[in-house]
Amino acid sequence: MTDTSDERRDRYVAAIQVRLRDAADAICYDPEDAAADAATAVADAEQRALRAELDDALASIKRVRSVHRRREGDSGSTYCEPCSNHGDIQWPCATIRALEPPKGTR
Ligand SMILES: [Zn+2]
Repeated sequence: MTDTSDERRDRYVAAIQVRLRDAADAICYDPEDAAADAATAVADAEQRALRAELDDALASIKRVRSVHRRREGDSGSTYCEPCSNHGDIQWPCATIRALEPPKGTR
């Protein structure tokens, strides 16, 4: 069974909370070193959580693009295979257009 992005995020949040508790304990013994270590540990955990979300988002986009594919019609026109009924919806379909950044933002 694969994790959903919510389950992954919950796991990373729990890991960050454990690291914060450990850091709070360590700061009592060696405040300067422990604070630096804690900041690094939390930043690492946050980075892993963001990377996991990014990986999930990129995988979702890849799945959508693999379904909504450009096809050539008999007349040379292009259409989206799953959205179109014999070429009546031209390429790119609304789904593919929604995945593209708005014009002028790149
Ligand atoms: Zn489509």
